[in-house]
Amino acid sequence: MTNIDPKPPLLRINVAIFVGLPLAALLLVPAWGIYRGFDTAQWLWALAFLYLNGMSITGGYHRLWAHKAYEASPALKWLFAFWGAGALQNSILVWASDHRRHHRHVDDNELDPYSAGRGLWFSHMGWMLREYRCNEPDFSNARDLERDPIVVWQHRHYVPLTVFMNLGLPLLLGVWLGDIIGTVLLVGLLRLVVNHHVTFFINSLAHFWGSRPYTESNSARDNGFLAFLTYGEGYHNFHHIFQADYRNGIRWWQWDPTKWMISACARLGLASNLNRVPDFRIQRALLDTEFDRARAKLAKAQDSESLRQMLEREYQEFTESINQWTALQALRYERRKEQLGGVLGEKKLHLQQKWEHAALRTRLKELEYSLKMQRKRLGLLMQQLQLQAQPA
Ligand SMILES: [Zn+2]
Ligand SMILES: [Zn+2]
Repeated sequence: MTNIDPKPPLLRINVAIFVGLPLAALLLVPAWGIYRGFDTAQWLWALAFLYLNGMSITGGYHRLWAHKAYEASPALKWLFAFWGAGALQNSILVWASDHRRHHRHVDDNELDPYSAGRGLWFSHMGWMLREYRCNEPDFSNARDLERDPIVVWQHRHYVPLTVFMNLGLPLLLGVWLGDIIGTVLLVGLLRLVVNHHVTFFINSLAHFWGSRPYTESNSARDNGFLAFLTYGEGYHNFHHIFQADYRNGIRWWQWDPTKWMISACARLGLASNLNRVPDFRIQRALLDTEFDRARAKLAKAQDSESLRQMLEREYQEFTESINQWTALQALRYERRKEQLGGVLGEKKLHLQQKWEHAALRTRLKELEYSLKMQRKRLGLLMQQLQLQAQPA
């Protein structure tokens, strides 16, 4: 890559935050633990702060503001703005603007602010320690956020806000719990450092470690273990292809507390318009990736002409399903527009409309099911290829 300055000047404040604070935590927290000890209430408060900070970043900064995956009431936005500031990861405006650049230019070492292509250390923390060019503030991709009064207010008052959330609040809590130093160390310092690193894992480890079921066009990975540490953001391969979906873990058994929080908020009337990618598009992405993998394997295999033909037949069927689905979706969209425009608004057409709508839905479901079955057949095909590859 050209024009990349390998060692621009260090950002002293960031070095103090990202290197100084973890070192202080490593020394002071165990020392106080040995000298005085921490009680259960302090640990529980630290955990509560950790989740409030973490989920304000994942549910607020990330899914709400950076991706607009749903809409939130002002009360919820204020909550995210305060507790997100407490995560000490810059203001919503800076964070979301950087993150939109990350998605748009993922893995581009010049334009992605935390490109995984520049290594694990750079994407985890290194990018924040120096004055890298890709890191210069540029809000041209966040004009919508500049119109959000809560975002603007938080950006203007970010420094006093983050000092209050990280120092003032733990201090007050310490007065109440009767141990100021211990509470500031545990709920203030250790919680902050832990939350920093688990969030940074999404930019670093989640681009290096895990599987890529939905797309291999970028380095993002799905990793259940990382999802557990990152409030559900570990399904990063899914997220990079379907960034506008409010979910990252789409299966019921996948750990995604941020998704659960958003749907709970929707039930309480605090969130609305939750964006979900249609299942068909998810199946399509899975199958597309599997076809690519199967082709690559078959290209290397010997005596696999019949399997190759089968694969191409499957691929043809796949393309036809996609075309049909796209046409049906367009038809559905047309119908809805007509209904809204009152073209078919007469009462006697009501039953006809309902019937058409149901027929369309059934057909779309059938197509979705046909992709699922295709994935099964593709699996069998691959097993066959594996058997052929084994020595007799
Ligand atoms: Zn990413
Ligand atoms: Zn994202």
